Amino acid sequence: MEMNSANVEAVVKQVLESMLEKPIPSAQTANAGSQAIPKTAHVAMLTSLEHYDIKEFPMPEVGDGDILVKVEGCGVCGTDAHEFKRDPFSLIPVVLGHEGTGEIVKMGKNVKVDSAGKALKVGDKVVTCMIFKDDPEITMYDLNKQNVGGADVYGLLPDDDIHLNGWFADYILIREGSTVFNVSDLDLKSRVLIEPCAVLVHAVERAKTTGILRFNSRVVVQGCGPIGLICIAVLRTMGIENIVAVDGEQKRLEFAKRMGAEKSVNFKDFQGIEALAQGVKDAFGGHAADFAFQCTGSPVAHANIYKFIRNGGGLCELGFFINGGDATINPHFDLCSKEITLVGSWVYTLRDYATTFDFLKRAKGIGLPMDELITHEFPLEQINEAHQTNLAMKGLKIAIINK
Ligand SMILES: [Zn+2]
Repeated sequence: MEMNSANVEAVVKQVLESMLEKPIPSAQTANAGSQAIPKTAHVAMLTSLEHYDIKEFPMPEVGDGDILVKVEGCGVCGTDAHEFKRDPFSLIPVVLGHEGTGEIVKMGKNVKVDSAGKALKVGDKVVTCMIFKDDPEITMYDLNKQNVGGADVYGLLPDDDIHLNGWFADYILIREGSTVFNVSDLDLKSRVLIEPCAVLVHAVERAKTTGILRFNSRVVVQGCGPIGLICIAVLRTMGIENIVAVDGEQKRLEFAKRMGAEKSVNFKDFQGIEALAQGVKDAFGGHAADFAFQCTGSPVAHANIYKFIRNGGGLCELGFFINGGDATINPHFDLCSKEITLVGSWVYTLRDYATTFDFLKRAKGIGLPMDELITHEFPLEQINEAHQTNLAMKGLKIAIINK
């Protein structure tokens, strides 16, 4: 037998295989990327109200500007819960999941950098933000003016021939014109929390436009679900310490304190709004709040919060991501005579998204228990259970984690 190079390779392979007792993938597979890409992908498709089916589709072609991502995890959002229960966006059948992250397994030849100009390669961990089909030239540097509300987002797209349109899946195809960020320097849980955290980074940016929010401000945060808790964390990372959390559940109020609230007020301990307002004032040592963040979806909570705020103070309302109905306020007492500066906040801009990566690093740096916001993890196959757990309000953030 002549020992040419092919023979040598075969012999070496045989020896190595006998040592390892398992076949070594052929050179062709090994060169295909850091991991072999299967022929099919799986998605959790919401096919009827309160029901997902796991569906299998052929792995799509990756175009010159596309990125194929192996999904690692995705948070379940309040928006997903509404769509699961009532389909308000009329998207069924749809692959949901917009708080996802994963690893690049294949890229088109034109993909070189992310939306912030950072290099991209196979193996990098990424998140997506908005999709600008109409204007793919937009970059994060001129996006302060553009809110996600006017753009498309993976996980809230109508079904199409590719099907891999949401993060409740094992693979997703990020198409040309989408924003994508290299977040390889963040751990998995932090990456799953990016989207909801961006909502609060934006809300605090909106609050800052009033000129009222300062280092030594007294700030009340009403509602201690994930949004209110992250709000407290963002304020704390900015150096605001005088924070009072308001909620009706003691467990959430305890967590609010660990996230950076100095005091907490359980509204169930008070009869009527006058007594509650006095309770909040007492928590600030006898002062009304300089600024308030309203983080519940309750119209009554919106009406009440004005009573916590001092004359000349400010309010950021961010609790109504869906129509929760009308709130009754008294414009004379609540707004005019107190000269309240009111801002509403709606999702985020691309710039806020990038700021959020730094927020998450800072929050960990000062020891805030961000990871503990994710209270439940489910595999993709148990996505129906994950949503039922979310609807039952059993935890804080529910996440689908692919093993
Ligand atoms: Zn969300």
